[in-house]
Amino acid sequence: MEIKSGYTDLTKIFGMNVFSNRAMKERLPEDVYEALHRTIDEGRPLESSVAEVVAAAMKEWAIERGATHYTHWFQPLTGVTAEKHDSFLSPTTEGGAIMEFSGKELIKGEPDASSFPSGGLRATFEARGYTAWDCTSPAFLKEDSSGVTLCIPTAFCSYTGEALDKKTPLLRSCEAVNVQALRILKLFGKDDVKRVEVSVGPEQEYFLVDRELYEKRMDLKFTGRTLFGQRAPKGQEMDDHYFGTLKERVSAFMHDLDMELWRAGVSAKTKHNEAAPSQHELAPIYSSCNIATDHNQLTMETMKKIANRHGFACLLHEKPFEGVNGSGKHNNWSLTTDTGSNLLEPGKTPHENAQFLLFLCAVLKAIDEHAAILRASAASAGNDHRLGGHEAPPAIISVFLGDQLTEILENIEQDNPSEKKHYGRLNVGVSTLPGLRRDTTDRNRTSPFAFTGNKFEFRTVGSNASIAGPNTIINTIVAESLCEIADRLEQAPDFESALHDIIKELVTKHKRVVFNGNGYSEEWVEEAARRGLPNIPNSVDAFEEFISDEVIRVFGKHHVYSEIELRSRYEIKLEKYIKVRHIEALTMCDMAHKDILPAAVKFSTDLSEQIIKAKQTGLNLNCTVTEELLGAVMDAIDGFGKTLHLLEESVTKAEAMAGDLAVQARFYRDVTLDLMNRLRDYGDKLESMVDRKLWPIPTYSDMLFYV
Ligand code: ADP
Ligand code: MG
Repeated sequence: MEIKSGYTDLTKIFGMNVFSNRAMKERLPEDVYEALHRTIDEGRPLESSVAEVVAAAMKEWAIERGATHYTHWFQPLTGVTAEKHDSFLSPTTEGGAIMEFSGKELIKGEPDASSFPSGGLRATFEARGYTAWDCTSPAFLKEDSSGVTLCIPTAFCSYTGEALDKKTPLLRSCEAVNVQALRILKLFGKDDVKRVEVSVGPEQEYFLVDRELYEKRMDLKFTGRTLFGQRAPKGQEMDDHYFGTLKERVSAFMHDLDMELWRAGVSAKTKHNEAAPSQHELAPIYSSCNIATDHNQLTMETMKKIANRHGFACLLHEKPFEGVNGSGKHNNWSLTTDTGSNLLEPGKTPHENAQFLLFLCAVLKAIDEHAAILRASAASAGNDHRLGGHEAPPAIISVFLGDQLTEILENIEQDNPSEKKHYGRLNVGVSTLPGLRRDTTDRNRTSPFAFTGNKFEFRTVGSNASIAGPNTIINTIVAESLCEIADRLEQAPDFESALHDIIKELVTKHKRVVFNGNGYSEEWVEEAARRGLPNIPNSVDAFEEFISDEVIRVFGKHHVYSEIELRSRYEIKLEKYIKVRHIEALTMCDMAHKDILPAAVKFSTDLSEQIIKAKQTGLNLNCTVTEELLGAVMDAIDGFGKTLHLLEESVTKAEAMAGDLAVQARFYRDVTLDLMNRLRDYGDKLESMVDRKLWPIPTYSDMLFYV
């Protein structure tokens, strides 16, 4: 292995592949730069004359760095990013060629929308769509072995204006929360604040497995998770992997990953080993919600690419290995003003604290009232295997505040005089908050929605998901909560006393969603039911939330999703669930027939031949152990074969249900998945008995423990 040494100036490397503010300032005439910034900062329409100059500068910049193609980089509802590459090259009448890129090409593209999922939108509308430049996320260069491409982050809409992507609703939701948060800040006299931005920092978990082993497993290749596989004798019980020393091979991968991400302007900050063997995490420094989302998509893409170069496969599935921790994506979320203050940071003065507590309680209200859609925002077939396991938050949404903050809220609720003495009396009855100790706020890893000192962390999101969906939901439900609060406060004759009353009322009404205990415990499931909190254990049921009356009302009110857009998302989610389970079932049947049965049958034949040979010696040898083993193997083969048959039948039945997505999805969940689990049990039993030399697929031990 090549040893990397020597000095690299990271400040020169960071963002070198981004057409950043700095690059734009250098290359654009001042008036054009300012006009573009009015569009970026204030959402003003982009004039075509400005776009023309920006496109020319962007093209020059990209070509100097070796770019030959450009692409509108967008996020269709598949959850991964899509791109269609166009060359800058344009032939001239003289038979030569020039490099061209116009303002029109920068602003608008027209990929064929008909091959992307659009749910009901496809039936209702012509499936023509266009992509439109999102100038709030900078253009960047992507490099790979095929060359350099200029990527222009874009939104993707139908010609009738429906969002066909994840970015458009996300941008709308950022706007919704901005509008409502500004109303509240105005009441606090913060007239200098012009914009409130959502800040997001997604921590990304992933597994690395050796590429050669990965290639030998159909399940990993086609479904991203192991459909068979007995647990290794050693798991994570020794806690020796978490934050452990990085293996050299892994650290070489991480180094290249960091470098590539830094060049693309992604602020990858921390990297470490996670709890499970072969599991790792990457956390970036937070940025605006929109950019964080683009960067997270880019991070996942880059992880897979760099892993290949290092002889690894990067697994982003939420639960690649049964019995081993799954992977999530902790979505750190907060609100920041353009004047640089974090609205979820406890303040230093009584006035600031009242404002902090109001925003905090607004979030509590949002989570309590819209827990079901928040849970649904993280629902997927893959995440069903992770949630509620012994390593991931349960499907019940609750908020962790920590003892200190909870006590403060309790005192407010009870107008507790001792509290006033303790923390100091204020005109709005809100205490001066003692400095919250960070370490006391971040210990509980079992909570799905935890306050961690100056931000909330939504931990239900699966590692594979785009964070666009969950953040669209968080932003909108918080916008709705702030809107209802602002409606009341704006009408109040006396702001200070109304503020006091409203905080108190919010605490009383929504404290049921606060839970600081162990979210993994059985008792919590019972306690949550007593409190009336929704518990939606699987994704098929959770998807229904997207078309509930309340969701249609709230998301319509804030212009984030129209009813048609919600129905299309609901359909797409069901369709995706069905496809995932269908592919898993087919892959399982294939592995059963071609990998597992032949190995098991060969082993049983070997055993019976041994027994026959032993008997033929005429020495009356004791064959009990071999006979018992053979009996057990034959039993397992029998169970395996019968279950395989039932699984195949269930797939045929499911395929015939194609007319009704909800019915089909429920069938996969209740019947097919159950048969898959049973088939796996037989398969894993066989793995525990069959000769290691005959077992045709890499085992958990092979894959999870390597040097
Ligand atoms: P931990 O949660 O383990 O204590 P950190 O506090 O360093 O770790 O942050 C985890 C993630 O949260 C990082 O991606 C970080 O950039 C992000 N983060 C920190 N502050 C904020 C904030 N105000 N808003 C959104 N994300 C934030
Ligand atoms: Mg964290």
